[in-house]
Amino acid sequence: MRKRQLIYIIKRAMLFIVSVCILSSCQVEKDVKEFQKTDEILGTIITCKVYGEDGKEGLEKAFQRVKEIDAMMSAKLDNSELTKVNETAVKHPVKISDDLYKVIERALYFAEKTEGAFDPTIGKLIDIWGIGTEHPKVPTEKEIEGLRDKKNYKNVILEEQSKTIFFKNKDIKLDLGAIAKGYAGDEMKSILMDEFHIESGILSLGGNIVTIGNKLDGAEWKVGIVNPFETGKVYGTLVASGKAVVTSGNYERYFEKNGTRYHHIIDPKTGYPADAGVVSTTIYGECSMDADALSTACYIMGKEKTLQLLRTMEGYQGVLIETDGDVVKSYGLTEGMFKKIME
Ligand code: AMP
Ligand code: MG
Repeated sequence: MRKRQLIYIIKRAMLFIVSVCILSSCQVEKDVKEFQKTDEILGTIITCKVYGEDGKEGLEKAFQRVKEIDAMMSAKLDNSELTKVNETAVKHPVKISDDLYKVIERALYFAEKTEGAFDPTIGKLIDIWGIGTEHPKVPTEKEIEGLRDKKNYKNVILEEQSKTIFFKNKDIKLDLGAIAKGYAGDEMKSILMDEFHIESGILSLGGNIVTIGNKLDGAEWKVGIVNPFETGKVYGTLVASGKAVVTSGNYERYFEKNGTRYHHIIDPKTGYPADAGVVSTTIYGECSMDADALSTACYIMGKEKTLQLLRTMEGYQGVLIETDGDVVKSYGLTEGMFKKIME
């Protein structure tokens, strides 16, 4: 494994320890079995803890499902279904799996809803920055311009009846890095709850947290939000039983050059790392796929547009940390749900 990847994965694992384990240490009730499993899939560390008789089998199946999702949705794997789509959908409509269809359809929904702040056709721009790879670089203005103005989610045509996808433009490359992990979290949770009757648990997919039920002692799960200025520390906590909590932050994947930090969330309108006055956006809600797409989009949109957007997303709330360290909460985040720890 490459050094940069290894450092990234270790950092992610540390964040999980900080954000979940400390805050959610759980008394194991007598006779309820606890199972844990950790693996590296989807380019990140996935760590889960569940309680229940069939937890071991449930975790095996849930992790297997994430491997399937990786094989479908990774833009980095040579043989993934998405890579094949990226190579051929500009030539003719390509039939795709139900899973891939569902995630691309939702990605396009959020692209429309955020007026292109979230844009899954951004893949070629992501590639020229190379953030998170061995060779990240600041592209030339010309390189950025060339790709920035050509890609557009409106050039992806999905056909529901035939489950096909077609690109109207050759400069499109789909990247589902901002939403696929969220989908995987939902799928893991469904398998564990519906097929293996797990009623309590906590899943971390590289910092995307999904909880099942309450803690074993009946208390609510509290999920930590990483302090973006000191990533070994917790900024605050969100009460999140049975919900997903997804954070996008400028500390997750980045490189530095001449004192400037270049992170992995790209503003499609500029072609550069988003700079809308926030350093971390956390979204809380039912569906982790939607929370994942929203956390990335809100990072790009900044405070005002995020607050407006969340008013239209019933059941979804947000906590934004601004560049100056101030915290912004969405209007529906009730007193007691979020607690700031760092003062
Ligand atoms: P997240 O960590 O969920 O915020 O997702 C960041 C990842 O999403 C990046 O590593 C890219 O793969 C992808 N990405 C970056 N910028 C965008 C964007 N504007 N719209 C959609 N996906 C993006
Ligand atoms: Mg995301």
